[in-house]
Amino acid sequence: MQDQQPVGVLPRHLRQVRVERVEDRPDAVHIHAKVDTDEAACPACQVVSRSVRERYRRRLADTPLGATPVWILLQVRRFNCLNAACSKRTFAEQVPELTVPRGRRSSPLRAMLRHISVALAGRAGARLAAKFAIPASRSTLLRLLRATPPTSPTVAPRVLGVDDFALRRGQVYATVLIDMDTHQPVDVLPDRTADTLAAWLREHPGAHIVCRDRAGAYADGVRIGAPDAIQVADRFHLWMNLGEAVLNTVITHRRHLAEPDPITPDPPPTAPAVPATPESDTEIRLVTRTRERYKAVQQLLADGCSRAEISRRLGLDIQTVRRFANATHVEDLLAGTRRDSVLDPFKPYLQQRYHDSHTDTATLLEEIRQRGYRGSIQTLRRYLRPSRPDKPLLPAARREHVGVGARRSA
Ligand SMILES: [Zn+2]
Repeated sequence: MQDQQPVGVLPRHLRQVRVERVEDRPDAVHIHAKVDTDEAACPACQVVSRSVRERYRRRLADTPLGATPVWILLQVRRFNCLNAACSKRTFAEQVPELTVPRGRRSSPLRAMLRHISVALAGRAGARLAAKFAIPASRSTLLRLLRATPPTSPTVAPRVLGVDDFALRRGQVYATVLIDMDTHQPVDVLPDRTADTLAAWLREHPGAHIVCRDRAGAYADGVRIGAPDAIQVADRFHLWMNLGEAVLNTVITHRRHLAEPDPITPDPPPTAPAVPATPESDTEIRLVTRTRERYKAVQQLLADGCSRAEISRRLGLDIQTVRRFANATHVEDLLAGTRRDSVLDPFKPYLQQRYHDSHTDTATLLEEIRQRGYRGSIQTLRRYLRPSRPDKPLLPAARREHVGVGARRSA
């Protein structure tokens, strides 16, 4: 029978059935086929049976022909199991490489959808699959993904990447292990502790080099689990270290950048409050991060969390938590982070007012608040304070007068 089939024209997964008719319908191609054997083995006891109980038709979605969906209308049989000791009375025949019990898709189509689900999971996967004429709901894709047996390596890759990722940001973290040669994920660990990583490394020997972040836990884990492995900081974290160091240096020395001449302030006092210089992306990011952290820390404090607990939950250093917890206003932190920047747009105005002998801090605060200043009085005071020779508000000739005003209002 096999030689009557147009072998070579048919895709591999249809070579074990007899294709009787191909129907080119407007919306899909229908392939009518039947199984081409006389007998089948019971899946439970492997005893071969020729006793057919019934015949019926299965409708299987198959891989598309171009953009045209394909349906396989497959006639199959249910056999009686002749083994009296077997737990099964009957069984349905399956076609290798084509069907699985109760599956409504051919095996190659299932494999395609599984690849899509691994890459894109539910929603995005469903959108892509629809474009390929193999519609599948997002829950189908997720079901396929969950049914995908986990690949469990027995040895570690030669160069192993270790990094954490958030399952729930700020609260639950896991660890992903990557083969740095192939850039493929190798395994996922349920947390980011040294013990878990050490246990994995002991069970999966073979890592020569481990790339990791700057956290101490992974360093300990590797030291315990793979003491012979060389530990290196990965490129991302090296760049991050360098970026942070440069950023902090620039922020620290920002005040040494040339300021406008205080004697001849250009903008009129009523000028709208716009930043004198546009903030860089990095600075905006830093400000955003500070605001988010401040909000998170204050929220957890309000919820009754201890500082140690907040440190653990947010993954922040305890000193950082303390600083964020002690700040009465986020602007104080920003003033600290960015030095004078919160006040920068208002400095020409303040200098003009001082020039005109208006020196009362509370009044000046009120005036710049009306112009959009959102910082605290402390920030303003720090700026006005004469005990900071590095921040002269006015030339030396007038400083004495300034000092009196600032002290009085302080
Ligand atoms: Zn059986």
